[in-house]
Parts: sequence; structure tokens; C-alpha cells
Amino acid sequence: MIKIRKDEALRYHSEGKPGKIEVIPTTATKTQRDLALAYSPGVAEPCKEIAQDVENVYKYTAKGNLVAVISDGTAVLGLGNLGAEASKPVMEGKGVLFKIFAGIDVFDLELNTKNVEEFIAVVKALEPTFGGINLEDIKAPECFEIEQRLKEELNIPIMHDDQHGTAIITGAALLNSLELVNKDISQVKIVVSGAGASATSCMKIFVDLGVKRSNIVVCDSKGVIRTDRENLSKSKLVFATDTDAHTLADALKGADVFMGLSMANVMSAEMLLSMAKDAIVFALANPDPEINYELAMKTRQDIIMATGRSDYNNQVNNVLGFPFIFRGALDVRATEINEHMKLAAVKALAQLAKEPVPDIVKIAYNQQTISFSKDYIIPKALDPRLLTTVAPAVARAAMESGVAKNPITDWEKYEHELIE
Ligand code: NAP
Ligand code: MG
Repeated sequence: MIKIRKDEALRYHSEGKPGKIEVIPTTATKTQRDLALAYSPGVAEPCKEIAQDVENVYKYTAKGNLVAVISDGTAVLGLGNLGAEASKPVMEGKGVLFKIFAGIDVFDLELNTKNVEEFIAVVKALEPTFGGINLEDIKAPECFEIEQRLKEELNIPIMHDDQHGTAIITGAALLNSLELVNKDISQVKIVVSGAGASATSCMKIFVDLGVKRSNIVVCDSKGVIRTDRENLSKSKLVFATDTDAHTLADALKGADVFMGLSMANVMSAEMLLSMAKDAIVFALANPDPEINYELAMKTRQDIIMATGRSDYNNQVNNVLGFPFIFRGALDVRATEINEHMKLAAVKALAQLAKEPVPDIVKIAYNQQTISFSKDYIIPKALDPRLLTTVAPAVARAAMESGVAKNPITDWEKYEHELIE
């Protein structure tokens, strides 16, 4: 496992220019003439073109490749409500990942408000600047209303990555795991630990993929979410069960899938032993999963296990999704990121894990063999094929679902441009 020391991490962020990103001009700026083009008087010409037809903003400015990563700092990583400034290193980091994996430029915006209406108003007012919006590290339940309202009110793609990025990758991992153990998605019983931002979105995508809602039992910090529980929020009520399970241990007996998006060590070896044959265990709490990886693997040999950690096989890492989902959405100028596009990303990721793995990936992970199996259910983060697989799948889905303002006609050329 890669161990990072505190002093090393702080030096990485403070050395040279503080932070991790900067803005670099893309046009010539060497001569007086260049400057007269870049700014006054030359700049007036594109201004006038855009004023005549607002779509020209995509032709003459960086809007079409610019994503805002926006947070209020209320749910920073797994660290909680650290405030807007303290979320900035994370948002800058997200900008780095967008750039290196998909060539997308990011402005990170940390908003000094905890008020839902104010947050929505600010993001709405920013629409002219950006091609897309990635909401990040905003706590539940506020994140649900913020995203829903902004989706309705904006005409650019918007996604809360903590919800949907996680759901898309987990959805792909679920499809492939079920294929490996030969279980039918419409029959499997799923127990979810956690009912927050990520778990809620995962359950929705599981249902879209064919899981029966009545086969899902959800636990939060108070135990099983049951129909007879009082004061359930709207997002929890949707998944309330009327089975007789009251605790996670009750619910897990005979279950096919455990989906953890909650807290470290809530699952014991005994609970794992009580699950059905060929159990699927996604223990994604960070940094420590719901059940320790070694403990789980020692307890049962038949399971498929995934965590959020890079030091074990099957890492559910959001970087498999967001750069490529936004790449595809921006490239067809999608007006939203809809369910069809998300499901296309799920299927593209699932399919990619079944393809032969190129040497460059094996070298990056120092593994001689990587092939579709219980230890490799989703692609690796450093797989260069993610860009050329997921982005086109999302772009196609945007076109099929009628939200692409600038459809792609020459796919070969597009895929070629992606790797340039
Ligand atoms: P969140 O919105 O704060 O939700 C956390 C949920 O966990 C809440 O519903 C909470 O219950 C529940 N919970 C707390 N203690 C519990 C317990 N002992 N048993 C069962 N449920 C419990 O957080 P989130 O953003 O969804 O993230 C949850 C976890 O998943 C974090 O550890 C995060 O790092 C991890 N995560 C991993 C990935 C990944 O690996 N790619 C992606 C996203 C999230 P209440 O509702 O009762 O408070
Ligand atoms: Mg996040």
C-alpha cells in the first residue's frame, strides 16, 4: 500500500506556486498585434458575434471545455463539514483529474453558503461561463434538492459526482459480479448499509438495471429503514421495507449482495458467513471499509469483494467515470446528463472489463495477468481505453435521448480526436 506522510502531502500542495492548478493562455500573446487581437480592440468582434447568437459562445470562448467543480464544503471526502476553504484542495484535485484523464479544464468554486436557495441562485447565475457543472462534496439531504432543481433550471449538463459517479461504477461492478456468479439481477437480494448521498443514487441505478425494489433492504445509523419507522425523510421512505428485519445482521441472512456506503467495520465475520453462496460484498466506506478486506477474504473464499481503496483489487474509484461522462456530454453539447447517459456509462464500463487488457495497463499496475474474474470486475483507473470507450458511449446516449445540441456525425474522426 502507498503510505503518504503528512509533511509530504503538505509540501506537495505548498511547494512552488501554492495549490495544484493554474490558468494558461491558448492563443499567441507575443506581439503587440497578438494582444490587440486577444483584448481590445480585437475581442469586440467575437463579443458581437455572441451577442447576435448566444450559441457562438461555444465557437469563440473556452466555455465548451470548461467545467465548474462546485462545493459548499459540507461533506468533504469522508471528513465532514470542513467549510468552503478547506474543500478547495479537493476541488483543485478534481480539476487535475478532469484535465489529465479527459483534457477538460476546470474552475473550482467553493461557495460560502449553507443555504440551499442561495447555492442554487449562485450556480444558476454561473451558467453562461461553463459547459458543465460537477457538484461535489455537498451533504445529504441538501445535495438532492440542489441537484434536482439545478437540473430543471439549467441547460448545461450537471452531475453530483458523489451520488451518480459512485452509482455508475458500482452498477458496472454489480452487473459483472452477477455474471461471474451466474445470478439473475431480478432475483438477487441486496442489503445496503448507508442511506446517504451515494447509497441513494446506487439503489436507484440498481433498480434501473433490473433489481427489484422489494429485494432491497436498507440500513442507516438507526438500523433497517422500515415502513413503521417515524419521521423518515422523502429519500429514505422510497426504500423503506416491511420485512421483519430490524438490524443489519437480520437483513444479511441469505442476502446475495452487501452494498456498504456507510461506516468502517459495521459488518462482522458472522454476518458475512450468514450471506448466500457466492456473496457479493462491496464495502466502500473510505478509508476503512464496512468489513476489513483481509478479514472478509479469510472468512469466505467464494465472495467477490470490492472496496474504495487502491491497495486491493476491484477499487470502486469515481475517476473511472466523471472525466469521461463529462467528456462525452460536452462533446455533443448535451443539455443534461440523463439516466440514459448514465446507464450507457455503466454498460461501457462493464463491457470494458471483459475485454483483453493491454500491456500498458499491466505495466502500470505491475501485474502480469489481468483478466475478467472475481479479482477484476471493473476497469483499472489508469486504463487509457476508458476515454475512448466511455466518452463515445455517453455521447451516443445523449444523441439517442435527444439532448445533444451538437451531434457527432463522424465517429471515427471523433474517437481519433479523443486520443490526440
Ligand atoms: P453520507 O451522505 O454522509 O451518508 C452516510 C450514511 O451512512 C448515512 O445514511 C448514515 O446514516 C449511514 N450510517 C452511518 N453510520 C452507520 C452505521 N453504523 N450503520 C449503517 N449506516 C450508517 O455519506 P456518503 O457520501 O453517501 O458516503 C458514505 C461512505 O461511502 C463514506 O465513507 C464515503 O467515503 C464512501 N464512499 C465511497 C465511494 C467510493 O468508494 N467510490 C464513493 C462515495 C462514497 P444516517 O442517515 O442515519 O445518518
Ligand atoms: Mg466527493
